[in-house]
Amino acid sequence: MTTAHTAFRNVVVAIDGPSGSGKSSTAKAIAIRANWKYLDTGALYRAATWLAIEKNLDSGNKIVEAIKESPIKFNCDPKNPLISVGDLDVSDAIRTLRITDQVSQYSQLPELRSYLLELQRKIISESTSGIVVEGRDIGTVVVPDANLKVFLFADLNVRTQRRGAESVEKVSAERISDSLQSRDILDSSRKISPLRPAEDALELDSTELTLNEVVDVIWDWLGKKNLLGLAKVAIIGRPNVGKSTLVNRFIGRREAIVEDTPGVTRDRVRYEAEWN
Ligand code: C5P
Repeated sequence: MTTAHTAFRNVVVAIDGPSGSGKSSTAKAIAIRANWKYLDTGALYRAATWLAIEKNLDSGNKIVEAIKESPIKFNCDPKNPLISVGDLDVSDAIRTLRITDQVSQYSQLPELRSYLLELQRKIISESTSGIVVEGRDIGTVVVPDANLKVFLFADLNVRTQRRGAESVEKVSAERISDSLQSRDILDSSRKISPLRPAEDALELDSTELTLNEVVDVIWDWLGKKNLLGLAKVAIIGRPNVGKSTLVNRFIGRREAIVEDTPGVTRDRVRYEAEWN
């Protein structure tokens, strides 16, 4: 299903793909480089799963009611992407295999999906800057008119190695590979919002690329689409050396005031420099 009423004020970059394809590391690195926000939508599904298991809830409606009582909150700072349920920080608890193995079952529940869909759009609309959103259905359902859509993938062996390196628990490669494959099947075959590339997504195979190389490719796409904003130029210097005149020359009009009164020009010039 694709809805069209999701035009957001700021740039939205959607990064979808299967587990271990490098979405999280890439999305965070792009957000940090661009000074944007970051949303890990998988963390929301994991937090809902954690709550469902904790409270022994088996239906979508009951889980939604429980979330209303103990709201899920995500901190969109890419350097500190914490998630809480009610007052409890569950950032580590949602990364255990117990949650990983069950999350795809819970994420099929229609009531839970539609509740989390609205929550994701609310978080995105409240972002005060651009935002990089990663998940499975961001480009197809959550933000169908995202400014850039990337579908990131990698072969199973590489994804298994990456997940193994990240894992906080001691788990065999075989176990990780099995878990990835069964999630791939469930996530791509479910009726609502299955994992698949949006028609206008740019596909990127990260199998043989380093994180920096993946980030550089996406950064290049952002630049080509003019999504990185204008360059900021700071003109700094002692009073009366001609900063304002220079600014006026650059922009082609008399915007920076040239005055004898100390302070006037300096403040105005600083404002101009940041604004551009
Ligand atoms: O990205 P991560 O591996 O943490 O996602 C955990 C699970 O959450 C996925 O396997 C999928 O079942 C679900 N998910 C989803 N839609 C999203 C993000 C994650 O169904 N947009």
